[in-house]
Amino acid sequence: METPVLASSGILLVAAVLLSFLLLREKKKHKDEIAGYLSTIRQLSILNELSAYLHTTMERDVVFESIMDRVKDLLRAEKSAIIIIDKHERITDFYSSLGPAGMCKTEVKGVIKKVFKELTPLRTDDVGKEPDFGGFPEQHPTIKSLLIVPIMLRGKAIGVLLVADKKNDTGFSVEDEDLLLTLAFHSAFAIEKVNLHEGIVRMASTDGLTGLNNHRAFQERLEEEIERAKRFESRVVLLMIDIDHFKAFNDAYGHVRGDEALKRIACTLTDNIRTVDFAARYGGEEFAVILPEIPLEGAMVVAERIRQAVERQTLRLDGKEARITLSIGVASFPEHALNRKDLIERADKALYLAKRSGRNKVCAYKEEEAC
Ligand code: GH3
Ligand code: MG
Ligand code: MG
Repeated sequence: METPVLASSGILLVAAVLLSFLLLREKKKHKDEIAGYLSTIRQLSILNELSAYLHTTMERDVVFESIMDRVKDLLRAEKSAIIIIDKHERITDFYSSLGPAGMCKTEVKGVIKKVFKELTPLRTDDVGKEPDFGGFPEQHPTIKSLLIVPIMLRGKAIGVLLVADKKNDTGFSVEDEDLLLTLAFHSAFAIEKVNLHEGIVRMASTDGLTGLNNHRAFQERLEEEIERAKRFESRVVLLMIDIDHFKAFNDAYGHVRGDEALKRIACTLTDNIRTVDFAARYGGEEFAVILPEIPLEGAMVVAERIRQAVERQTLRLDGKEARITLSIGVASFPEHALNRKDLIERADKALYLAKRSGRNKVCAYKEEEAC
């Protein structure tokens, strides 16, 4: 028979074991709760930092790269990417944490296309099991877990946000999916802001009719190129170009045809210069081309090539063949002028000489009154 003392100490022992078990469980619950709170705080602070940062910058590369980096950190992923897709389902921007993807202007495919078109996230622990897997750049390293969400702007998808290979090989959770959707939501507005900003900058520096740089952009660029040439002791050549007898052309064929001719000349200019060169509509029927780091003789060859290309073009108007010719004046920094204003004046003087010598000509600046 057990004594009452023994029986009560046994009960006490059981109670103590039970209590410590309950306490341990509570402690673990608390620990889990605290870990959950800490993780949420961490996520919110990264999100907060990202939104604040996205408000301070308008530069495309900076915005896209910071979204990509933060997404990777926040979701504890090995890889991340942000892909922008146009309405023709072509990739316009592809920023990947693995570096340049070389997918610009290619058609979107595979799982990326699926998420973009169906507007539903895709989450998988093993891409090997995905029937539509694909659409990644060639030579892309193999990935295992993957989470892709659409980036939506006013009810339309403009691209996708993607994370791959969750750290510790645990796969992405439903919470990760919600978080990535939140990030995609924030990213959409930042991307729209970049697009609007770039649109305004482009409009402010572009000529509406020809799509060339406008007068203001030309003056800025010429100043910059002269400064650069001073620093590196190199040269800048300026071509001033004027259409011959354009008033008569307008009178004969009308201003609409005149406008078409201006657009065609703008194309011919850009087709005949290097990417480092700068073509602008100076005003009316006058154009200017800045040729950095080129000797005068080389610039004369470029000018002559432009003159001949325009002369060769025939415009069929009202059953008649019309031709347009150009006069081009050439002046060089530092041979002919030492600042922007003087360089323009000298190129203008050379243009005047080309006109005086019969038009459809290229003339370099000279002190004399003959070309
Ligand atoms: P020149 O050989 O001496 O340069 O003769 P020109 O007739 O080209 O020169 P002028 O300065 O007398 O006339 C320039 C013409 O360019 C007059 C104007 O109608 C035309 N022009 C200027 N801007 C535009 C434009 O945006 N569209 C059209 N269609 N014509 C324009
Ligand atoms: Mg003129
Ligand atoms: Mg003219």
